[in-house]
Amino acid sequence: MPLTVLQIAPLRRRKTVCYIVVERGSSSVGRASASQAEGRGFEARLPLHFPSRRRGVFVIDGSFSVSGLISVVQQIFQSQITFGTSGNVSERDDDRDGFWITPSGVSWRDIADESLVKITAGAVTGNLRPSTEWRAHQALYERHPWIGGVVHLHSPYATILSVVGSPVKAVHYQMARVADEVPVLPYTTFGTNELAQSVAQALSPQVRAALVANHGLFAVGDSVQSAWTAAREVEWTAMIQYHAMLIAAPAVLSPGQLQAVRDAMAHYGQAPTP
Ligand SMILES: [Zn+2]
Repeated sequence: MPLTVLQIAPLRRRKTVCYIVVERGSSSVGRASASQAEGRGFEARLPLHFPSRRRGVFVIDGSFSVSGLISVVQQIFQSQITFGTSGNVSERDDDRDGFWITPSGVSWRDIADESLVKITAGAVTGNLRPSTEWRAHQALYERHPWIGGVVHLHSPYATILSVVGSPVKAVHYQMARVADEVPVLPYTTFGTNELAQSVAQALSPQVRAALVANHGLFAVGDSVQSAWTAAREVEWTAMIQYHAMLIAAPAVLSPGQLQAVRDAMAHYGQAPTP
């Protein structure tokens, strides 16, 4: 279908610069290659809830559809570590002027790139409302410039330990990547600034996760993928700790033993190809 392109404007998305093309009189929305944006015509197709969706707006360059954030959303859904709409995840924007976060009240299965919400200094961009826990994500990004991603889950074993006030201890060496111990923070109402400040104060490069009593788990990393990895490490360790506690008081690795693990991990994996 030939189109008359009236305007091309850059649209900053995750890892990619896309282009919005405004075409007079069109009632459809779509995406196409950059060459097609030059007015040679293209077949329009775009997810229904894209934030920029409005009459006659076209997004050029389809590569926006798989961001790091959406990839982690899909991994969380497929892992079955949580269910329904509980939990949320965010990623700092490349421009570092804010962050992208999952929407409120949308199940993990249904979250798509176009349903993500951007928050810049408390201002919201997108068609949907952000997760109710956006203040905690914002507080973490503001207080810790090194944080690139945040994962919040009501995963079962971390939540079990949170309701009995038990930190997640280093009962396995895999915890070394996250912390010597994952603390339990006092219970505070979800979505409040009180919860946000409590979590932001507790986390650091040496303590990359914390439980909130009777609530769940927050984990951070220098990317959203590393935050998700930390969350999984904590949930798995909490599961081991829970089951071990049914038998006897589990042995806990010392800070020295954990540091030795970190040193060894620096050389873990395949050597780079010469
Ligand atoms: Zn929560």
